[in-house]
Amino acid sequence: MNHSVKKVNMGVILCRHCNALIDTVDTNRIATFYGVCNQPECRQQRSVTNASIRDVTEEE
Ligand SMILES: [Zn+2]
Repeated sequence: MNHSVKKVNMGVILCRHCNALIDTVDTNRIATFYGVCNQPECRQQRSVTNASIRDVTEEE
């Protein structure tokens, strides 16, 4: 019986912008983490958001 070698990743890391599966992690229970994937569009969204907040703050 070789069933004991079966590996299951219960944790997933999703992109907060496009919900793409970034990676899986070994956890003892089901878990979902959010990050930003490698797509330029998603990374730019994060940069733009930070820049917008800064611009608004500087105006006041
Ligand atoms: Zn993404």
